[in-house]
Amino acid sequence: MEQTLAIIKPDAVRRNLTGEILAMIQNKGLKIVGLKMISLTKKQAEGFYQVHKDKPFFDSLTDFMSSGPIVVAVLEGENAIERYRNLMGATNPENAEPGTIRKKYALDIEQNSVHGSDSPENAKIEIAYFFNQQELVG
Ligand code: UDP
Ligand code: MG
Repeated sequence: MEQTLAIIKPDAVRRNLTGEILAMIQNKGLKIVGLKMISLTKKQAEGFYQVHKDKPFFDSLTDFMSSGPIVVAVLEGENAIERYRNLMGATNPENAEPGTIRKKYALDIEQNSVHGSDSPENAKIEIAYFFNQQELVG
């Protein structure tokens, strides 16, 4: 069993897509074991995306991620990290496969509707950024 962090980004929450995206996740057999809606400050968004701090898109990305509520979820299942990354689709929605969340809902390469952890190490760090143990169901 593996866990991964999913985020429904502000562009999708604003367009009332939370339910549809969670349904796509559940329909893939991934189990939601933690879930909440929060708003990030600019500083919190910068903390979450530290790995990208030297990228040209960092300032714009962290402005976007703190521009409105997000939904954070912990997903669990066999191979959950890769399965959820496959369901998300490519970072740039122009390159995303049909049937993926980003193909269906992303507005552009920045406002691409969802986040997913990319490795077991990062999944652990990202889950701990938003959830304590009592907030995750067994
Ligand atoms: N991003 C962007 N411009 C780029 C690349 C990425 O605005 O050229 C944003 C986009 O929202 C992306 C996030 O930065 O989801 C993190 O980038 P990463 O390369 O980690 O993509 P992901 O893992 O989300 O597919
Ligand atoms: Mg990434």
